Amino acid sequence: MVKELQLRVTLKEEEHHDILVIKSAQALDVDKEDITGVKVLRKSIDARKPKIIFNYKVAVYIREVLPKSSEYQFDYKDVSKAKPIHIIGFGPAGMYAALRCIELGFKPIVLERGKNVQDRRRDLRAINQQHFVNEDSNYCFGEGGAGTYSDGKLYTRSLKRGDVRRIFENLVYHGATDQILVDAHPHIGTNKLPKVVQNIRETILKYGGEVHFETRVTDFVIKNNKIQAIQLNGNNEMPADRVILATGHSARDIFYLLHEKEIALEAKSFAMGVRVEHPQHIIDSIQYHCSGERHELLPAASYSLVQQVNDRGVYSFCMCPGGFIVPAATANGEVVVNGMSPSKRNNLYANSGIVVEIDVNRDLPKYEQFGALKGLEYQKNLERMAFTAGGRSQVAPAQRLTDFVEGKLSADLNPTSYQPGLNSAPLHSLMPKLIGSRLRKGFTAFGQKMKGYYTAEANIVGVESRTSSPVCIPRNERLEHPQIQGLFPCGEGGGYAGGIVSAAMDGERCAEAAITGL
Ligand SMILES: Cc1cc2nc3c(=O)[nH]c(=O)nc-3n(C[C@H](O)[C@H](O)[C@H](O)COP(=O)(O)OP(=O)(O)OC[C@H]3O[C@@H](n4cnc5c(N)ncnc54)[C@H](O)[C@@H]3O)c2cc1C
Repeated sequence: MVKELQLRVTLKEEEHHDILVIKSAQALDVDKEDITGVKVLRKSIDARKPKIIFNYKVAVYIREVLPKSSEYQFDYKDVSKAKPIHIIGFGPAGMYAALRCIELGFKPIVLERGKNVQDRRRDLRAINQQHFVNEDSNYCFGEGGAGTYSDGKLYTRSLKRGDVRRIFENLVYHGATDQILVDAHPHIGTNKLPKVVQNIRETILKYGGEVHFETRVTDFVIKNNKIQAIQLNGNNEMPADRVILATGHSARDIFYLLHEKEIALEAKSFAMGVRVEHPQHIIDSIQYHCSGERHELLPAASYSLVQQVNDRGVYSFCMCPGGFIVPAATANGEVVVNGMSPSKRNNLYANSGIVVEIDVNRDLPKYEQFGALKGLEYQKNLERMAFTAGGRSQVAPAQRLTDFVEGKLSADLNPTSYQPGLNSAPLHSLMPKLIGSRLRKGFTAFGQKMKGYYTAEANIVGVESRTSSPVCIPRNERLEHPQIQGLFPCGEGGGYAGGIVSAAMDGERCAEAAITGL
């Protein structure tokens, strides 16, 4: 017999290794010895009150064997001789498009400008230590895309539970911890993601797909509004009639290329701001109502904040507890910051993007001349400002949080996790008013919502500018570009995803669309 239960476990009880069996036996009025296993289906922490509670949803197996197999079977076929589907970009969207092609019996040919996960590490070191950005291999470009060296938070607002579960099961199949199947806020961690990504590549190769690194797509050959071929690294052409374009939100050369070729693009609203970094113990003490160290059974605390300021949302984005701020620029001459965490989230700092919504139809009148690329040009200007204010390297401009809000240059800064280093700069006057003044009001409001959050012990670091794509590549109901037959804009770059899971789900959808009629 199998019974599903909700259990509430206090922090003290959680210390007991057998607590779920004991509580299940009590709740079901059965002998502890008759319980053959308790499978956790969902786990979350309720820390709203000082008495912290772990909420569990469990399946209790009574005199029955605990099944170990997953619900999902991935039916990968030998596609070595099958009809090819070309996929540009090997981020979450491209990876899941390729895996889905194999399940459906088509051969994915993946073209990725960056390097494999191993070789990519060297370029990340160069950004952090020599402040040199390889424009094809960095925190955004390379095997696994922008998701590889990230926190690996797997949150999505998608309501399609089945599709989300499928992506999670697939990540577990490729080596992610099965804890992601139960946690209310699952994450993988930057130390574990590269192996998962590498396993996905190995599955693709094993079943006859192709993955070509250091292969940048530089042009599209289009005849009679139909895609015929793609140009690689500025010279040779590869014939292609079904192309999934999954190049992410940082592939500016792709947006420029499409614009020059008069292939329709649209400006898209997005968000920009700064990253704020607190000592983790401050966030822990606020969220867990404790002073000093958090209990060892509690994970580094996170937060989610939102405030409406002068008709625009100001909100926390991609919060990384126990994490690092990283340099996420894709070209020299710009400074862009983002965040990542290891699986244990055990670094000393908590960082989060705090960003302001930018409405491209109302906020950028001076950029109208750039048409569909107006948001992109505005984004570029902010990143150049950060480069100059940081001192023309990957050193980022920063300010104590309280100085930013009060409009004062910081005499000195707090220690940071950001490896290239920080330079004190008057971000309160350098940021465009549209963003800066809303951020200042937003931070004040956040300080009222979370007592202790508004503190001189936090730095703000500029600029968090790549939250989502400032450009949308349109597609019709068949997920094909309305003007170009055979071109399927996909993932975050097209404007159809906002994170690892939604990009992966969109990749699967685009693969299904691309094979239609073949
Ligand atoms: C540091 C950091 C931390 C993040 N943390 C999280 C997180 O914790 N959780 C979360 O959900 N999201 C996170 N994100 C966002 C997430 O990574 C993206 O939403 C996601 O990767 C988008 O997937 P994608 O496949 O659409 O595009 P991308 O991941 O951007 O992949 C696009 C790929 O296309 C390649 N490419 C670009 N142009 C070309 C070309 N011309 N030819 C060939 N290849 C090309 C790029 O090299 C890249 O590998 C983070 C991002 C960063 C940078």
